[in-house]
Amino acid sequence: MKAEILCVGTELLVGDILNTNSQYISEKLTSIGVDLYYQTTVGDNFQRVKDCLKVAFERVDLVITSGGLGPTIDDITKEVVADYFGEELEVNSKYYDKVVQKYAERGFGNDIASGGEKEASIIKGSRLLENEVGLAPGFFFEKEGKKIIVLPGPPREFTHMVDNEVLPLLKEYSDNTLLMRTLEIRGVPEGKIDDRLKDYFKMSNPTVAPYAKEKCVHVRVAMKGPVEKIPEIESKIDKIINEIKEIYPQATEVR
Ligand code: ATP
Ligand code: MG
Repeated sequence: MKAEILCVGTELLVGDILNTNSQYISEKLTSIGVDLYYQTTVGDNFQRVKDCLKVAFERVDLVITSGGLGPTIDDITKEVVADYFGEELEVNSKYYDKVVQKYAERGFGNDIASGGEKEASIIKGSRLLENEVGLAPGFFFEKEGKKIIVLPGPPREFTHMVDNEVLPLLKEYSDNTLLMRTLEIRGVPEGKIDDRLKDYFKMSNPTVAPYAKEKCVHVRVAMKGPVEKIPEIESKIDKIINEIKEIYPQATEVR
């Protein structure tokens, strides 16, 4: 499954906050063997978010959005997604009740502004993804082979939902895993490593890839495959790691 992350939020673009959600989910998706091909960040602008969805679904099967699910007018993600798919939003009563309760606790009484309904809405016919730590639910929607997962922006909510809702959901679609190990090689310039290991770098599964660091080079060996084949995958990776260690005896394993 090819995936793209679409982070919505002008504050990300202007450098107000660091995009930790993107890093968090990237690592998790990789660990379950989802091919994350793109990470996109876009401001809170209806047309530009819609354009991003169009582009994304031309190149991936799954888009995961972060941010813009709140009650305010600049929170537009659900509205754009509904518009893109030609679907309606509908208020989820359980989450609406949560909003009402929260407002009461904060002393706002029964004066629930329309933002409360907006916050508690998901696309009609979508699968709700529980938000146990915040007010806006997430959802999973699929139409004509296009899958989208819509998640709130606050990192506490986002990470909790990735772990408890998104990963179990994606595992239903993919039984793949991706295992990797990394060697650190010191005292050899990157170009030299390229020459020496070039046949490895051309391999496709497992893949072997160099990453130049300030004072060393990291070589990562990664292989994807079905969960039930983990022992075989591990032994293939092990074999390559040992071969590279024979070429570069000073190599040490990192992480
Ligand atoms: P809310 O209901 O709080 O408005 P939301 O789903 O609408 O949530 P945003 O308004 O986009 O989400 O973001 C809420 C806050 O979460 C932002 O102020 C920011 O601090 C944080 N945030 C949003 N996106 C990210 C991200 N990609 N990485 C890290 N933090 C983020
Ligand atoms: Mg918001």
